Amino acid sequence: MRWSAQELSTEQTGALPGLARLNNLVRSVRTPEFAGITFHEVLAKSALNRVPGQSAMPFGWTINPYRGCSHACSYCFARPTHTYLELDAGKDFDNEIIVKVNVAEVLRKELAKPSWGRHPVALGTNTDPYQRAEGRYRLMPGIIAALAQSGTPLSILTKGTLLRRDLDLLVEASGVVPVDLAMSIAIYDDELQQSVEPGTPSTAARLATVTAVRERGLDCSVFMMPILPFLTDTKAHLDAALRQAKAAGASNIMYTALHLRPGVKDWYLQWLARDHPELMSRYQELYATGAYARKEYRIWLAARIKPLIRAHGLERGREDPATGGVRSSALGRPQQGNPDAAASRPGDGQDPFSRFATDRSAVAFPADDRDRTDDRGRSAVAFPADDRERTGRSASEGLALGPADAAVRPAAYARTRRSLIEEELPPELAPTLF
Ligand code: SF4
Repeated sequence: MRWSAQELSTEQTGALPGLARLNNLVRSVRTPEFAGITFHEVLAKSALNRVPGQSAMPFGWTINPYRGCSHACSYCFARPTHTYLELDAGKDFDNEIIVKVNVAEVLRKELAKPSWGRHPVALGTNTDPYQRAEGRYRLMPGIIAALAQSGTPLSILTKGTLLRRDLDLLVEASGVVPVDLAMSIAIYDDELQQSVEPGTPSTAARLATVTAVRERGLDCSVFMMPILPFLTDTKAHLDAALRQAKAAGASNIMYTALHLRPGVKDWYLQWLARDHPELMSRYQELYATGAYARKEYRIWLAARIKPLIRAHGLERGREDPATGGVRSSALGRPQQGNPDAAASRPGDGQDPFSRFATDRSAVAFPADDRDRTDDRGRSAVAFPADDRERTGRSASEGLALGPADAAVRPAAYARTRRSLIEEELPPELAPTLF
């Protein structure tokens, strides 16, 4: 098998307690290239995860090739999932990475089942599929190819610049299935970014990745998630962020305020106490009642950022002249050199994108924000201003799709009215996803 040929520096014989009970643990590995990180290679029994309670949503399915994430964002909502393995939600989440080495093989079997409905599948909704481990394990090319070959639309949300390695494959996939890409870039202050997201590529590198995606003709959303209260919510920071995202070619912006669920809050507040102790009391008050920032803050933030997003031309969606709706150029593009692929789709004679037209005229603000702020950016609640200046390997696996494959592609999702990414982020879930 592919992973058995990889060079080992140290094989850990004493697996951690929770992992030891997993009968699918293959081995635990450390290598000099990943100082301080242990990879726990497991044989996954399944690859597709159904999203609980989301059965009515077209996406409804996710794949997580990794558990834990070396990007090490102190605010990461996924941290508590590590405790299921008797690993802690802090350092262990950053350094003890579970790798599903057989995920692509298992996925192919699942996608081949007659019962698979080619529902859109989201990657990056839990841990980052293009974290550093992906450079070693190369799981994503097999996943992307398997999804595309089966006629399954996909979306990817990442902070990883390694996405560029797979752009050829993603472009090819987008010729046959809808492919939505998004980069998570929330912090445009290098010092702050290195402090709160110490394992991530720089903001500049991520913006360059957005540009690379756009140069290949695919849309690329930028997720400003999370916006950190009193740190990245100044007008100057938001304006600079949006200007840079626009200059990089971002197709649109989505944002949410910081969400601190139990198990994440303690870890984030430890970081805050160390780096910004002057803000501790304000955070304690802002998150006194739960995981969400107080509603007044969210309303205030919406009123501040919404007009800026509009001013920078980064509102969600682009008008489709054929439908009057909004479309994504990443959705089901005709495959180069295979005009039959487009011709085989339902609704021939129309703009090939129109059948995937999306209704994305609004940025996905939390529902209360939409209700209580107006389009001129005024808030019903006057939140205290704090404008202090903080701102200051190409994939080798081809898809080899033929005309027969093309015939099965778009019909299953022609009814999908909204972007896959947007479907990933219903307002009540959005704050928990990056
Ligand atoms: S927020 Fe995303 S990139 Fe950051 S640690 Fe969590 S999964 Fe990784």
